[in-house]
Amino acid sequence: MIHFVGAGPGAVDLITVRGQRYLKEADVIIYAGSLVNKGLLEYAKEGCEVYNSAYMTLEEVIEVMIKSEKEDKMTVRLHTGDPCLYGAIREQMDILDEKGMDYDSCPGVSSFCGAAAALNLEYTLPEVSQSVIITRTEGRTPVPEREKIMSFAAHGATMVLFLSTGLLEKLVKELLAGGYASDTPAAIVYKATWPEEEAYVCTIDTLVETARKHQITKTALILVGNVVTHSHYERSKLYDPGFTTEFRKGSDS
Ligand code: SAH
Repeated sequence: MIHFVGAGPGAVDLITVRGQRYLKEADVIIYAGSLVNKGLLEYAKEGCEVYNSAYMTLEEVIEVMIKSEKEDKMTVRLHTGDPCLYGAIREQMDILDEKGMDYDSCPGVSSFCGAAAALNLEYTLPEVSQSVIITRTEGRTPVPEREKIMSFAAHGATMVLFLSTGLLEKLVKELLAGGYASDTPAAIVYKATWPEEEAYVCTIDTLVETARKHQITKTALILVGNVVTHSHYERSKLYDPGFTTEFRKGSDS
C-alpha cells in the first residue's frame, strides 16, 4: 500500500495523527525534501528506507514505489502542506493506476492555513470577503489565460499566492492592473509554523520593498486583501444574540 501523506506546513507537530501513524509504520518513506521538515523523519522506524524526492525524477519515485510494492512493503509519499495543492500527486497516481497499484491520501494542514495562523487571520470576514482565491504567479509553470492574476484581482477577494515570492514585481503589477488599490493590505509569511517563521504586514505598494528588506525570496506566501488588517467587518450572524440557529434560539424569534 502507498499512502500520500500531507506533512503539514512545517512544525513537526502539525502533521495529522493519522499521518504520524503512517510515518511510524512505513517501510519506505519518499519525502519532498525541499520543504518537508526533516524532523518528521524521526518518526520512521529502524530500517525504514528514506528517499529525498528533491533529487529524483517522477520515474525514479515510481520505481521506488514499484519495488516497495513488489516486496509487500508500506510506502509513505510525504508531501509538504496538503498534497492537493501544487503537490504533483496526480501524475504519480495516474502511473500507479496504470500499474494497478493501490494508494490513498491522508490530508495535511496546508501552508495557507499556517500563514493565517501566523497572523491570527480570518480569511473570510463578513462584509469584507467571503472567498479565498488560491493561486500563483506564472513562472516556468504556465497558468491558464483565464486564470491570470489580473482577472482574479478584479474580485477584490482574499488572495493567497503560492510560489510567487521570486516574482513579486510582476505580481504587484498584475494585482494593480486588475483593480486592487495600491494601499490594499498585504502580507508576506515566510516559513509559516517553522521556528524561523517571519510574518510582515504591508500593502501591495510595499510588497517588493518588504520582501527585499527582510531578504525573503522563497518559501513564503503572499496574502492580499482587506482581511489582512481587518479594520472594518460585520459581526457574524452565527453568534449574533438576535439570530436563531439549529442549536440556539435568538431574541428575534
Ligand atoms: N502543498 C503545499 C504547497 C506546495 S507548493 C501546501 O499545501 O502548503 C510550495 C510553495 O508553498 C512554496 O513556494 C511556498 O509558496 C508555499 N509554502 C510551503 N510551505 C510554506 C510555509 N511553511 N510557509 C510559507 N509558505 C509555504
